[in-house]
Amino acid sequence: MRIALIAHDRMKPRMVELAREFAPMLTQHTLMATGTTGTRLQAEAGLSRVECLLSGPLGGDLQIGARLSMGEVDAVIFLRDPMTAQPHEPDINALVRACDVHDVPCATNPASARLLLKNL
Ligand code: PGA
Repeated sequence: MRIALIAHDRMKPRMVELAREFAPMLTQHTLMATGTTGTRLQAEAGLSRVECLLSGPLGGDLQIGARLSMGEVDAVIFLRDPMTAQPHEPDINALVRACDVHDVPCATNPASARLLLKNL
């Protein structure tokens, strides 16, 4: 499956933790991530083959949303920070909306991410 991984700054440690926990399974899938999330997953979770797109605030969420709309993404793990305003809020909403439009599973917190990853 093609899985997109995105985490806002304060959620990146949780994403790394999650990726380490599921690393053996994740390495069997095609992974893409927004820039900073992907770089950290490569360095800290050993996911060397994750494709790094643009950083979220520079358009990375939109890139993932565009791929998803073309049928090129099967699941999204999007660890959003509910306590911090983001400069690219419209992009975030667009990605989550695209998941809903195309009925692609999208986990936006660690607990739902675990459930999703366990069921892949
Ligand atoms: P980042 O982007 O992985 O480049 O930090 C995530 C986001 O803020 O959407």
